[in-house]
Amino acid sequence: MTQNQHLHIAGRWQSGISTVENRNPSDLSDLIGHYDQASAEQLDQALDAAREAQPVWWAAGIQKRHDVLMAIGTELMARAGEIGRIIAREEGKPLAEGKGETYRAGQFFTYYAAECLRNQGDLAESVRPGIEIDVRREPVGVVAIVSPWNFPVATPAWKIAPALAFGNAVVWKPANLTPASAVALAEIIARQDIPPGLFNLVLGSGREVGQRLVESPKVDAISFTGSVGVGRGIAAAAVANMTKVQMEMGSKNPMLIMDDCDLDLAVTHAANAAFGGTGQKCTAASRLIVHSTIHDQFAERLVAAAKAFKVGHALQDGTQIGPVVSESQLAQNLAYVEKGRAEGAELLCGGDRVERETQGYFMAPAVLAGTRNDMTVNREEMFAPITCLIKADNYAEALSIANDSQFGLTAGIMTRSLSRASHFRANMRAGCVMVNLPTAGTDYHVPFGGRGASSFGSREQGRYAAEFYTSVKTAYVAAGAPE
Ligand code: NDP
Repeated sequence: MTQNQHLHIAGRWQSGISTVENRNPSDLSDLIGHYDQASAEQLDQALDAAREAQPVWWAAGIQKRHDVLMAIGTELMARAGEIGRIIAREEGKPLAEGKGETYRAGQFFTYYAAECLRNQGDLAESVRPGIEIDVRREPVGVVAIVSPWNFPVATPAWKIAPALAFGNAVVWKPANLTPASAVALAEIIARQDIPPGLFNLVLGSGREVGQRLVESPKVDAISFTGSVGVGRGIAAAAVANMTKVQMEMGSKNPMLIMDDCDLDLAVTHAANAAFGGTGQKCTAASRLIVHSTIHDQFAERLVAAAKAFKVGHALQDGTQIGPVVSESQLAQNLAYVEKGRAEGAELLCGGDRVERETQGYFMAPAVLAGTRNDMTVNREEMFAPITCLIKADNYAEALSIANDSQFGLTAGIMTRSLSRASHFRANMRAGCVMVNLPTAGTDYHVPFGGRGASSFGSREQGRYAAEFYTSVKTAYVAAGAPE
């Protein structure tokens, strides 16, 4: 790549038709750069190149795919500090989290490197004599990947790695807020010995490049992570073309804090799950449903924990909560705090913009108490360092509140009771349930996804990703008698 050539299309780095400015949300005077935006023609060029490259990649075989994915993963892990710094600078998560994210992205690639070797099918007896049946997984073809800014390297990694592992070509449109992380990941992938056009990075706005990509009949499958609103539009576009689609969207993850829990552990897990990553996680704990007998004690300790977090520049030593990603996200967050208060919630701490040495989008983590589950702050995903306390008089009521949501991504319970924990695992309508753990924080080798408005289509990650990135073919063979 040369400077100002940020698009990787048909095996070449290219300039776009315009650029967008990328600034550090921890320090608005820090200009990271201007990033190219692709034209409609460039997007089409990427799709055509992907179509040509895909069969070549599939034919190259499992050892080749294994080696390429392993090399990408190994390099990501080795460069976690450097790439983590790019993430911290442009997205605003503390440096340690940026490093951790990059390392995790590497693990997705090394995991799927090994998965290349496990692409095994089934053999079946036929009900008709003299016929053999085998069932194999084949690539779906050209996969469009649309990813968000909150995990700008890990989220695309958990999509690109299985897409390539199972023999597909990729056209990736990352979020326009985090182009530098996208270019860093793309440089590693593009440097590998892969057919030109197998992997394409197409930067551009969601409304233009994103929309055109998901509406294209040249796409065989779409994997999206982002907001529910955009997800609905993508689902409609996919259905119109009969394109396979998989989506992971928002949530209002509940955490039940029961009267028999380890209170210190509950406070630590709830605070980390609510405010880690500045609350900008689809797995953030945003509804804390607390048993009334321990509610006030828990609230007091949670407020102390929230106030103790060090909010500041993502690259500064000791920072635990970085800035909010953008001005519009910050304005939305502050509006949610006001909305909560207007609907009758009590603001126990935070919820305001805070000043630091550098001009950035800093916000003090907020705890809203006395909330009801029907309030806006408990219905809509805020993606903010804001959490809401809801009182419940017993476990059954707490579970019923937790399940009263259009979403169902992750859910947690803090309890020492085996029967409550077991009942919760079985009866909480969510894709991931956590017992005595935060709602955020998942492994890379097992499925991830949710129910209701949180997810659509088959699961991501682990072996389950094969369902989306492959198409199953059943072959019937009548060999006949030898001459
Ligand atoms: P979006 O859903 O708008 O963006 C996610 C991705 O989709 C980005 O790459 C975006 O591009 C792209 N996109 C936007 N519009 C279209 C479109 N019409 N067709 C195709 N692609 C499109 O989320 P935002 O980044 O705007 O965040 C808004 C809210 O979404 C957050 O406050 C949060 O509630 C939720 N969100 C949830 C995430 C999750 O992990 N569940 C992740 C991110 C956001 P571009 O960035 O260029 O607009």
